[in-house]
Amino acid sequence: MTDVGDASSWIERDADVVWHGFTQMASYATNRPVIVERAEGRELIDVEGRRYLDAISSLWVTTLGHHVPELDQAVRDQLDRVAHSTLLGNGNRTVIELAEALAPRVPVDRPRFLFASDGAAAVEQALKVAFQFWTNQGVAGRTRYLAFGGAYHGDSIGSLSVGDGGFGTDVYDPLRFPVVRTPSLGEPGAVAAAVAAIAEHAPELAAVVLEPLVQGAAGMALVPAEAVAAVARAAAEHDVLVIHDEVATGFGRTGTLFATEQCGTRPDLLVLGKGITGGYLPLSATVASERVWAAFLGPDLSERTFYHGHSYSGNALAAAVALRHLQLVDEWDVLANVRARAAELRDALAQQVAPLAAVAEVRQQGLMVGIELAPPADGLRWGRRVSAACVDRGVLIRPLGDVVVLMPPLTTTADEVARIVATVAASIVEVTDDPAAAGAP
Ligand SMILES: *Cc1c(COP(=O)(O)O)cnc(C)c1O
Repeated sequence: MTDVGDASSWIERDADVVWHGFTQMASYATNRPVIVERAEGRELIDVEGRRYLDAISSLWVTTLGHHVPELDQAVRDQLDRVAHSTLLGNGNRTVIELAEALAPRVPVDRPRFLFASDGAAAVEQALKVAFQFWTNQGVAGRTRYLAFGGAYHGDSIGSLSVGDGGFGTDVYDPLRFPVVRTPSLGEPGAVAAAVAAIAEHAPELAAVVLEPLVQGAAGMALVPAEAVAAVARAAAEHDVLVIHDEVATGFGRTGTLFATEQCGTRPDLLVLGKGITGGYLPLSATVASERVWAAFLGPDLSERTFYHGHSYSGNALAAAVALRHLQLVDEWDVLANVRARAAELRDALAQQVAPLAAVAEVRQQGLMVGIELAPPADGLRWGRRVSAACVDRGVLIRPLGDVVVLMPPLTTTADEVARIVATVAASIVEVTDDPAAAGAP
């Protein structure tokens, strides 16, 4: 291994030139960030050679692990052909192959794929497509969206608008467009409220946008499958489009390839991102049903066209790794692993974490977990301190406020699950001085 120097000098150089998102740069260096140099399997290795089990899958994108030989090879092979060619008006072989491979797997009728690079951009595309779907057909007034409490859809202005704020983004409220918002679908009475709002606002609604099964950024707020189905029925009855944002839940996280499968519904638009390339390269997609797509057909250069596109839409390197990734998910029976490890994770959390006095609630769906801590006062920064204690023990965690998030890669092992839970339990006890720990085994 080449010696690349000490972590503190890298942190200094980092803070000198790099502006990190969702990070207060005045305290960045003192929060002891991990400076990654390389990776092996599910471990990240820092500039001093220290190893960290990546228990957040690099903010929810890594599926099979890091530095996966098969995925590395897919990138190299594509590199030998072409790295990128524009999809605006022309095509690319690898992108076609990817769309063909995804088509029978996505829960959308006769799907068409509009590629982009980030989740937020694909959400933005879905919002614009839903809006223009109506104007193309001469239907006026369908200019609003129904979205839910706790929703997160990305950080561009449109995706922020359908999102429910928080994370310090309230400052942008003056820029957000107004939406019809009803409570998070896991809350009591939320389904009735959503169904009533769809009925009341239908003539002005372009679409309902929701995260099926789990609102990740809300701290893993659970969304019942029946609630998603009830919203779909109400939307269909009132002819309102449904957009499923599966940027976080897609590609196996919840135990099925897509969370929508467990809801038994077929959205008009589906948004994919994060795990689509196994966490390798930026790629996202807005998937439209044939009905939606067909509303954009018309004479060449006509107003019915979707006048939207990004420079790197459908990047070939990203498409190549996404295609290989989809094959490996099947070849390695990754979904079976997700389900087996999720069951072990549930048992271990129930035994070692849920009983702690400092823990208010443990929420889980597949390999998505939120451990909500219950600090006795404001400002104790329990979420951050517990995560830092985990990092000290070699398990990389990043919290959402006082919710400790666990998102291990989908290929995680039984031993790793045990290690993650033991580490989190020990860290919670250390930080919160948990009295329940005295009686714990
Ligand atoms: C992460 C996320 C997004 C935004 O994706 P980016 O790639 O970060 O822009 C949108 N929706 C959901 C549900 C997400 O979890």
